[in-house]
Amino acid sequence: MKCPYCNKNMKPGKIWQDRYALKWVPSERRFPFGGGIRLTSIIEDRPFIEAYYCDNCKILISKLKE
Ligand SMILES: [Zn+2]
Repeated sequence: MKCPYCNKNMKPGKIWQDRYALKWVPSERRFPFGGGIRLTSIIEDRPFIEAYYCDNCKILISKLKE
């Protein structure tokens, strides 16, 4: 995958959760409860999300599963 900012090749990899599931929560929420998108789940056997990394821009891009 090409970086949309600098057009260099991005490195494929994974973002692993540690103890708790990773969650994306919109900025207007002050706390991560009752909203957002759960990205990982050990119970569902997906303790990571796949993401591409651009070392030049320090950007991560991930296509989320439905
Ligand atoms: Zn880049």
